[in-house]
Amino acid sequence: KENTTKENNVAKIKVVVRKRPLNKKELSRKEDDIVTVYDNTYLAVHEPKLKVDLTAYVEKHEFCFDAVLNEQVTNDEVYRETVEPIIPIIFQRTKATCFAYGQTGSGKTYTMQPLPLRAAQDLVRLLHQPVYRSQRFKLWLSYFEIYGGKLYDLLSDRKKLCMREDGRQQVCIVGLQEFEVSDVQIVKEYIERGNAARSTGSTGANEESSRSHAILQLVVKKHNEVKESRRNNDGNESKNGKVVGKISFIDLAGSERGADTTDNDRQTRIEGAEINKSLLALKECIRALDNDQIHIPFRGSKLTEVLRDSFVGNSRTVMISCISPNAGSCEHTLNTLRYADRVK
Ligand code: ADP
Ligand code: MG
Repeated sequence: KENTTKENNVAKIKVVVRKRPLNKKELSRKEDDIVTVYDNTYLAVHEPKLKVDLTAYVEKHEFCFDAVLNEQVTNDEVYRETVEPIIPIIFQRTKATCFAYGQTGSGKTYTMQPLPLRAAQDLVRLLHQPVYRSQRFKLWLSYFEIYGGKLYDLLSDRKKLCMREDGRQQVCIVGLQEFEVSDVQIVKEYIERGNAARSTGSTGANEESSRSHAILQLVVKKHNEVKESRRNNDGNESKNGKVVGKISFIDLAGSERGADTTDNDRQTRIEGAEINKSLLALKECIRALDNDQIHIPFRGSKLTEVLRDSFVGNSRTVMISCISPNAGSCEHTLNTLRYADRVK
């Protein structure tokens, strides 16, 4: 019953690369754009190199992905390419995850920010269709952060959260606040509130948030009227509907942060090691999913543990790899593309 043709039309794992334009600073430095997008699946990086006699040459690295988006592609088109096809099957028990991967400054946040808003808009529209309205579906939103291997609720004063597993492979983040969202304006307000609560250390907002993973979840639940009122009498809020499907949007820590393991600062080293571990574990889990492996190595990190129930059953994964086009980012860009290549 689960394998309707509609579901089969959406690939289990999709790897998308997005190139951002050169920014003002790079343009003013007259940096070269070394990334060429040939068509919607194929790109090359032209790596500047020097021979032993110091003559310059270019090494060309070619890559193919499910989709390659050039610097002219809008956020709207990104949505249509990545998340939109998944929305209808959220109502058919799909757990979907959309990641943004890449070095700091490559466009992860720029790419991710509008996606949950558009998704909520489409989900709310579906909720109001007669077929779903009669089933009492509701949409819930939560927003939290993984920082240094610990969970913080971005919608309740950075309350520290812990994770529990029940016997049926379900992960539960104890105390995570969920909010019912019935219109898009409210979703926008929650996102802004959560963004304001993201890690900001003494070194400034951007610097610190690049060391954390931000996870925004939209969950469709089915609410049974009778049970619901009984629960309310017990003093619980009426948010205990049954999870039908969900989609998680994950703005990952800057991929270069995983290399901070030799930094002079101890805290930075610990965080770097944690980020490195989680990005490696993520890659392993997606590969295992792709190979239809029974055993998914989700225990490798907090990030993958939290996503455990999105790696089993009817799951969909979209990886958006963000890359900077400037010559100075060449090494990071190649690392990002190789990571994406391994995930496929
Ligand atoms: P990251 O989250 O990966 O550190 P950001 O999303 O903050 O990177 O992007 C860095 C800067 O580049 C921001 O000022 C952002 O507005 C800009 N930017 C990123 N991607 C694009 C794009 N596709 N088009 C235009 N500007 C972009
Ligand atoms: Mg960012």
